[in-house]
Amino acid sequence: MTNLSPLLSRIADKRDDLIALTQALIRIPTLNPPGDNYREICEFLDRRLSAHGFTTELIRAFGTPGDSEKYPRWNIIARREGAYAGECVHFNSHTDVVEVGKGWTQDPFGGALIDGKIYGRGACDMKGGLAASIIAAEAFIETFPDFSGAIEISGTADEESGGYGGVAYLAEKGYFSPARVQHVIIPEPLNKDRVCLGHRGGWWAEIETFGEIAHGSMPFLGDCAVRHMGAVLDKFETDLFPAMAARHTDMPVVPEGARQSTMNINSIHGGQSEQSDDFTGLPAHCVPDSCRIVIDRRFLDEEPLDQVRAEVTGILDNLKSTRHRFDYNLTELNHVLPSMTDRDAPIAATLAAQIQKVLGKPAEFVASPGTYDQKHIDRIGKLKNCVAYGPGILELAHKPDEYIGVDDMMISVEVMARSLVSILLKTPNPTATP
Ligand SMILES: [Zn+2]
Repeated sequence: MTNLSPLLSRIADKRDDLIALTQALIRIPTLNPPGDNYREICEFLDRRLSAHGFTTELIRAFGTPGDSEKYPRWNIIARREGAYAGECVHFNSHTDVVEVGKGWTQDPFGGALIDGKIYGRGACDMKGGLAASIIAAEAFIETFPDFSGAIEISGTADEESGGYGGVAYLAEKGYFSPARVQHVIIPEPLNKDRVCLGHRGGWWAEIETFGEIAHGSMPFLGDCAVRHMGAVLDKFETDLFPAMAARHTDMPVVPEGARQSTMNINSIHGGQSEQSDDFTGLPAHCVPDSCRIVIDRRFLDEEPLDQVRAEVTGILDNLKSTRHRFDYNLTELNHVLPSMTDRDAPIAATLAAQIQKVLGKPAEFVASPGTYDQKHIDRIGKLKNCVAYGPGILELAHKPDEYIGVDDMMISVEVMARSLVSILLKTPNPTATP
């Protein structure tokens, strides 16, 4: 049995360092969009991790959505080799944060520490998690410099806008190949006692119905595209929503309301364009010849994407054959497949065992209603042994007065560091090359 008390006392000594590191990260405003200060935060992490023996690479995701000379998509991967060959544990955090929004009582980029909470945009999602993983890795390396394998820490761009300039790009380049990395922890704010195994899928599409323009006083001379869309929405209400609600899943999605298929009507527009607020005129009288909606359909591991698509196009095709003059066009905007790791996968089981030891109660296994970068590590990187685990309350993400609790971060640091002990302190193979 490894004696853990030197590690635990070292973690306790790093509390102020953890606070200062979290504050420093919050004070670099990495807003996305547009993708501000990605280079600055990568250089900050470079200085920090290089000083602790990591070898670093700064990688720009050239040509990905949003990448430009003004807003380059920079990422950092830092790697620390152990004394012996072994497995690599990778902590992946996104460095971008969403817009500030209204309703703040604290400076969103001030990082104020008040009553054990650090405030700021990105405090919980997910600069607190990034800081916790760095402190955990540093405490582990300082205590057990002769560990086997390697530790990687990455700070990646654009998770909030799909991750194409971040993890997806790095996965394409082989940075998440199973030959290089064996375990991935994404410290998203799922809370200190929960292991997130994956997320639901998403399918986004625009549907347009067509009509024929005519004078509004004689609508019978035209064909109203908005009424056709009304018929679509009516079918969604009577057929699609009840069918989705009746489906069951083994995915432990939280919150409970998301433990089924869901669909949001993201937007609707038909007829004349909306005028700007300073327009004082009246509308002209026309029958709309076009109506468009955008749908945001979230689906379960048990639902094949083809079935999700066919369910919607089936409704539309049925209307086409039964409703006079009905015609439509459907344009797929994007899709993300669900991702689920087994709860007995090594990294999930390791984290759960350490949560049990630190908190004295079983870890809760959950899945996320929305997607995050696990999808790219799974589909592009072909690496299944990946979960999200990190401090912070998920419901605070993207809200005003977002904060992270220092005590929660300290618990997560301990869980992460103990997990490194469990994976990287296996008896070294004396014939293995360092
Ligand atoms: Zn996040």
